[in-house]
Amino acid sequence: MKIGVLALQGAVAEHIRSLEAAGAEAVAVKRVEQLDELNGLVIPGGESTTIGKLMRKYGFMEAIREFSAQGKPLFGTCAGLIVLADRIEGQDEAHLRLMDMTVARNAFGRQRESFETDLDVKGIDEPIRAVFIRAPLIKSVGEDVEVLSTYKDEIVTARQGTLLAASYHPELTDDYRLHAYFLDMVKEAAAAKA
Ligand code: GLN
Repeated sequence: MKIGVLALQGAVAEHIRSLEAAGAEAVAVKRVEQLDELNGLVIPGGESTTIGKLMRKYGFMEAIREFSAQGKPLFGTCAGLIVLADRIEGQDEAHLRLMDMTVARNAFGRQRESFETDLDVKGIDEPIRAVFIRAPLIKSVGEDVEVLSTYKDEIVTARQGTLLAASYHPELTDDYRLHAYFLDMVKEAAAAKA
């Protein structure tokens, strides 16, 4: 399985390391042409407005929508989750608008800019270690979206078919199980097409 990490801005190298540790071949994606050779794509954390701007500038909006329409999985973490969302609270414009959810940016406030916790995730046996940095929250989801984990009753991990979204940074720990979960989604998607 070959997985790309969108490398316009944000935590790219860490995702590549985690994907490799989980058993995938991983590459940094800077040009839309690279998408053709990939089975799945990670949109990393960083700053969603910046990532969105660069995606528009380099033609990634349409190219990633097309990639997803081909049944290839996407995994958005933190800012990447915001980029996947159909609706962003307090903003008129969203980015890819692929995942049926409303997100709130910087939802934990200033007191809790960053923190770590152990999180139960549906489909993963033991809690995973999650690092939250100026993290968004998923405020509401459509009926096709499955909630995979909550933190203090707020949704922080969700899946809609071939789309996976996490509010936190799974790539900043040595716990690769959420990346492994995504690789399983990619394998399932590839098998379904074969
Ligand atoms: N606060 C950032 C945003 O709104 C996301 C933070 C992150 O990715 N660590 O885009």
